[in-house]
Amino acid sequence: MCEDSLNPFAIAQRQLDEAAEKLHLDEATHEFLRWPQREFIVTIPVKMDDGKFKVFKGYRVQYNSSRGPTKGGIRWHPDETIDTVRALAAWMTWKTAVMDIPLGGGKGGITCNPKEMSEGEKERLARAYIRAVGRLLGVTKDVPAPDVYTTPKIMAWMMDEFETIQEESHPGVITGKPIPLGGSQGRGDATARGGVYCTREAAKVLNINLDGKTAAIQGFGNAGQYAALLGEEILGLKIIAVSDSKGGIINKNGFSAKELVKYKLENGQLKGFPGADDITNEELLELDVTVLFPSALENVITEENAAKIKATISCELANGPTTPEADLILHDNNVFVLPDFLANAGGVTVSYFEQVQNTYNFYWELDDVYKMLDKKMTRSFHDVYYMAQKEKVHMRLAAYMVSVARVAEACKLRGWV
Ligand code: NAP
Repeated sequence: MCEDSLNPFAIAQRQLDEAAEKLHLDEATHEFLRWPQREFIVTIPVKMDDGKFKVFKGYRVQYNSSRGPTKGGIRWHPDETIDTVRALAAWMTWKTAVMDIPLGGGKGGITCNPKEMSEGEKERLARAYIRAVGRLLGVTKDVPAPDVYTTPKIMAWMMDEFETIQEESHPGVITGKPIPLGGSQGRGDATARGGVYCTREAAKVLNINLDGKTAAIQGFGNAGQYAALLGEEILGLKIIAVSDSKGGIINKNGFSAKELVKYKLENGQLKGFPGADDITNEELLELDVTVLFPSALENVITEENAAKIKATISCELANGPTTPEADLILHDNNVFVLPDFLANAGGVTVSYFEQVQNTYNFYWELDDVYKMLDKKMTRSFHDVYYMAQKEKVHMRLAAYMVSVARVAEACKLRGWV
């Protein structure tokens, strides 16, 4: 494993170490929680459209199953490594615990660039991945979901391959499925919606009226697009800057979130949006806005730029956007951070609702999903905020303290440590 200070798994371990110290965890429990319980690396040959075979590396990490079957998305990205998957699996463990849902944490990934693959190649890769790791999956074992560059369509192929192998129906084996195949109402926007509910609660404790206040969003995929739409609709935020992998755009008067999403979907990028000026991803993070939504990838707020972050609230829809050094600087500068595994937990929470509906074979109305999600996000925000106030620590450490204590308790009750 690379010991680089930006290695996401090294960061996840450092964050845990800090919480373990504050919680006075015993040595064995602490050491146990520093590592995945199980991890799998697979080598997957896939026949490409030109008739040649290409060999991909795939991963599935089951980090901790003390509170229930492991759960976590599958990311397809050229920079995916076992360490990013380990870190994301650790964060999933803390995420399900902070939300107090009866699941553990896991994650999967394939090192690939889906932007350069045809639909046929993506389908063959999705099915081959399931043939390679399917024996590890199941509603009582480990349940994947979408993440960066994977979609409901990819989840449908994966579920179909799993059911074909098992020769029976298993809709709950994967969440984030299309609705006709057992997906839940409200899963599409759940990650951003959860973050928006958390931001609403943060604004209440900070005594800020968000109506008409400004926001900037880095990353404009599932999380970022819905952050724009729901930030505007639910919080009354004025979206002044957005970005994707090709760069960002700004308009100080504010954009229409719907127009931005329409343009991105039609053009595949934000650059070129009428009436906007260009801005870099780095500049976007440093804008003087009320709410910043980091919604792309990890390690974008580091000790290099943390002192320049002017947002009042940073709602981390991305996983791992802030390094531990940056966290301290943000805290000193009174930037109120809604930490990733709390702020973006709406996705896994509605995934959990999806599993429940699949098990009962009875499906909820959209309004019921929203109400249940709001209740869960609000309660978890206040659990963490209460811990932050009580222990006089920043919100990320408070979130770790809440969740690590819950996972440690489950491990102890099982007699594992
Ligand atoms: P997505 O739909 O694949 O979108 C990712 C977005 O990030 C795209 O707009 C992409 O740009 C942009 N991006 C990629 N590399 C970038 C770079 N170097 N600089 C700036 N932007 C870049 O993924 P997503 O589901 O929204 O996930 C985004 C983040 O949220 C990830 O950290 C993920 O782990 C986290 N998350 C997602 C969920 C969920 O339910 N989807 C749940 C919890 C957490 P292009 O559009 O140009 O490709």
